[in-house]
Amino acid sequence: MGGGPDLRSKSSYPTLAPRPVGQMISKIYKDRIRSFYSRGQYEKHNLLAMMHEGIASEESNIKLWVWDAPGQERPTFDEAVSHEFRKTSVGHSFGPSWSTHWFKIAITVPENLRRKEHLELHWDADTEGMVWSKDGQALQGLTGGGERIEWILPESFRDGKEHIIYIEMACNGMFGNSPGGDIIQPPDPDKYFTLKKAEIVAVNLEARALYIDMWIIGDAAREFPENSWEQHKALKIANDIIDTFKLGDKESITKCRRMAQEYLGPNVDSHRVYSSAKDVKVYGIGHCHIDSCWLWPWDETKRKVARSWSNQCDLMDRYPELNFACSQAQQYKWLKQLYPNVWDRVKAKVRAGQFHPIGGSWVEHDTNMPSGESLVRQFLYGQRFFESNLGRRSQTFWLPDTFGYAAQLPQLCRLAGMDRFLTQKLSWNNINKFPHTTFNWVALDGSQVVCHMPPSETYTAEAHFGDVRRSVTQHKSMDQDATSLLVFGKGDGGGGPTWQHLEKLRRCRGVADQVGLLPRVHMGNTVDEFFDFLQPKADTFVTWYGELYFELHRGTYTTQAKTKLNNRKSEAMLRDVEWLATLASIKNESYKYPKADIDAMWEAVLLCQFHDCLPGSSIEMVYDDSDKTGERLLKDIRKALGVSDRRASLQDSVAINTLPWHRKELVHLSDNEVGVACGEGPFLAIRPFKTTEEQPAVTIEEVRKGVFVLENDQLRVKVEGGCITSLYDRVAKREVIEKGAKANQYTIFDDKPLYWQAWDVEVYHLATRQELSCGETTISEKKPHRVSLTTTIKISDASSIKSTITLAAALKGVQSWVECHAEVEWHENMKFLKVEFPVDVRNTEASYETAFGIVKRPTHYNTSCPCFLFSLPPIIQAIVVLTFHAAGTWPKFEVCCHRFADLSEHNYGVSILNDSKYGFATTGNVMRLSLLRAPKAPDAHADMGTHHIRWAILPHQQSLGHATVRAAFAFNQPLKAVASSPDVSALVAAGRASPIGIKLVGDPSLVLDTVKRGEDDEDVRPGDEDVSGNLPKRKGRSVVLRVYDSLGGRGRGTIKTAWDVRAVFKCNLLEDDLEEIPLRAKGEFDIDLRPFEVASYRLAL
Ligand SMILES: [Zn+2]
Repeated sequence: MGGGPDLRSKSSYPTLAPRPVGQMISKIYKDRIRSFYSRGQYEKHNLLAMMHEGIASEESNIKLWVWDAPGQERPTFDEAVSHEFRKTSVGHSFGPSWSTHWFKIAITVPENLRRKEHLELHWDADTEGMVWSKDGQALQGLTGGGERIEWILPESFRDGKEHIIYIEMACNGMFGNSPGGDIIQPPDPDKYFTLKKAEIVAVNLEARALYIDMWIIGDAAREFPENSWEQHKALKIANDIIDTFKLGDKESITKCRRMAQEYLGPNVDSHRVYSSAKDVKVYGIGHCHIDSCWLWPWDETKRKVARSWSNQCDLMDRYPELNFACSQAQQYKWLKQLYPNVWDRVKAKVRAGQFHPIGGSWVEHDTNMPSGESLVRQFLYGQRFFESNLGRRSQTFWLPDTFGYAAQLPQLCRLAGMDRFLTQKLSWNNINKFPHTTFNWVALDGSQVVCHMPPSETYTAEAHFGDVRRSVTQHKSMDQDATSLLVFGKGDGGGGPTWQHLEKLRRCRGVADQVGLLPRVHMGNTVDEFFDFLQPKADTFVTWYGELYFELHRGTYTTQAKTKLNNRKSEAMLRDVEWLATLASIKNESYKYPKADIDAMWEAVLLCQFHDCLPGSSIEMVYDDSDKTGERLLKDIRKALGVSDRRASLQDSVAINTLPWHRKELVHLSDNEVGVACGEGPFLAIRPFKTTEEQPAVTIEEVRKGVFVLENDQLRVKVEGGCITSLYDRVAKREVIEKGAKANQYTIFDDKPLYWQAWDVEVYHLATRQELSCGETTISEKKPHRVSLTTTIKISDASSIKSTITLAAALKGVQSWVECHAEVEWHENMKFLKVEFPVDVRNTEASYETAFGIVKRPTHYNTSCPCFLFSLPPIIQAIVVLTFHAAGTWPKFEVCCHRFADLSEHNYGVSILNDSKYGFATTGNVMRLSLLRAPKAPDAHADMGTHHIRWAILPHQQSLGHATVRAAFAFNQPLKAVASSPDVSALVAAGRASPIGIKLVGDPSLVLDTVKRGEDDEDVRPGDEDVSGNLPKRKGRSVVLRVYDSLGGRGRGTIKTAWDVRAVFKCNLLEDDLEEIPLRAKGEFDIDLRPFEVASYRLAL
């Protein structure tokens, strides 16, 4: 050896190099890290080989018996354990799909494991499961397939004796029973699951901790930029740890962990890591997104809730930093009813401040399609459940996974006590990237909420290093505020956060404190506290006005037509029930307002508005369930109305009316008899409609072979080849249909979206448009008051349409419309059926009814460049823009509407009314109503069968106005004659005695939408067991009214009632009084609304 210390220098640095030293080759050393803790060829020689200190799976340690529940029954614990169990063992298979199997398990911990540090039962059959104690306590859920397969054995099991537990096995995975890797394919009904593992495992906790250390340090080495010292340090430490590890040597693991501290800091083994008082950027919140139905039926969801939330209660005991936010009052209610012991555990954790009920709504519902009042009830029922059962209302509306957000939601949130909104789904937009993370979202009326969209772009984050990192790198609002939420935890059957998630986050915090570069994640705050931190800066946040349109899943306005029809009908009928029952209960003290029934009906409607049910993106079993619910609901409502459909003479009939304005309509009495109902109030008298064969009020004539003219006092309709070639407005003296074009033309499109069949319709489908040609047209009805033409249309060998065009007598002062009906026999594959109306009206914007208002959207394809383009090279930008233009691709090529869509120019327009549809498009002057789709996943038979669909063409003078709004109401709630004989309920009698009841006079844009009894009225509230049983009752009787401005202008009017009103309060949606409104006369008060305001009033009687 040469080169000793240089005597002339004090430095110890040798003059001669002692040996060659090489540069670390980054890629090789990075790849090496994963092989240190991964399965594969080294698993018996790397860290994994030291994870377990012993395993016992002999029959002397684990004995198994099973009882197979019959069919698809999901019996309770008590019922299950009352049966005879048979012996079974690992290796046996259980099925088929959706069946349930109860296992009785006798556990005896062997001598050699009794003193080990940590014992777990590992159970895996690739299915979900629930661990039950011997005495019937639901303990903890299992996911299967290697995920959450462990249950920690209690200390008491170390006594050498035999201990009994039960496991309830559900024959489905966390995403149901899809046949292969593609989860949205319809479920395989005949899947069997093999019990792969049932063993007692002694875990080496120190090795497990090192595993997580290496995962995070490895991520830092892989994901930090190579031009950062933090990346190089991670790479070095990770490799040093691997060099230090010695297989079989526990001491070496301790040494490795000490080395890891240099990167992770000294505190990552406890929640105290979060106690460093430093600037926090990311707030971690545990969550478990449980779809109330989707790829499994409703009843399975009830079990998923219990499995998931029991997991969380258990995890909170071990990880005090875990804060868990969970939405959907309905799921809490299921838990309360079906799993009282888990419910008690949840309540205790709510009190302790770790389990946070959030969202304020009944379910995480769709917001495109529910009516305004349905949205109100989502909040009313949700908030009341939370307040009554858990002692608090939500401040944050929580809707991470819904497919677009209606324009009035901020207003409704504010009125339901919530000023914050969390969502995330817009990160799935497939054309424009949504430009903000934190912003003020503004409703049609100007109300605002602070909205946050977690920049990690998921509500089921795995709490990876990358998720924490992306919380800053993808944050789009850092000019105003750089903090964000990280919503982590496995959804659906995954059971929420796992111990791995919590361990990883502790280390991420450690990295941030020890070396930096990674944003500092914090645990222990609630979502509300996160928003509390944001709120002081809110006046600097960017604003977004109007709907949050989701640029994907546009097919959900159409898929599962029957569910949508049931939704519309149920909403309309519930409106009638509440209105009439209110009048009856005020008039007649002996009549009991059917609050319990109304609650049950609303809860069923609200449940079906869940974001995979009403949008049509669930499996067939869900729709079997929800259609049954819908049919039962309609039956119940008819019963509650006390309606008798029995035929009665004109004198013995009345028309039930709940629309708050003067009405004059034809009412069908029998095949040969028609009457005119006219007037205001709940029950309209019907008088004979005088027409004769000689002097008909509407005519029909075949003017040439296959060419027909239908005519009343206002409209002349020419039908040629089954389509409307002319619609002439005789009053305005103008043609409504574009010259040479055909209206009520059925068209069909190929409908194969990129992946999400039930969800998506993609822009390219427009290029496949084909007109359906009509067969023969015949006169199907020729009465003095109504005429109809029916045309048969062949779609394919399997599918056809019976299309009927009807014109009824025009009544003076009422705008006439052309009514269309389609009876569709639909058996197509991946086709989209629509009907078109090319009208002679020009505007660059069309209007669509939305919940409590109107949304305007362009009729053209102008746009600024989609934001994501700016990140591409100019040449690519040009190609993309050209491609999109060629396809006519702009984001709103298919939009949502409620009862009408309208295209108006100055002074004239056309509205298309419908009775059950939600999908629409207006391109140029062509209005197009979407009728039926035929996706094959996840429901293989979606929409197959017979459909009856109604719509109407309503031309009108002036621009869009109250004539359309009122016609759309009337079209959806046609007057119906009912027998007013003694067997009609007390309700009818009470109503007849009250000719006025309630009415609204003033600006015709004002709509009195809802009349109901006060939720807390003492004479109305059901028993204490209902959703709001613990809330205080209110003395006296009250009536709640909801009024909105439907057209976007200042609305002034007067409410007049026939009641002895003591006082009137403007209230919020939760019926808290806000301010007292002076009475102008007995039972009368004035209202004054800003454009698109939704106002509620509580009348104290
Ligand atoms: Zn979801």
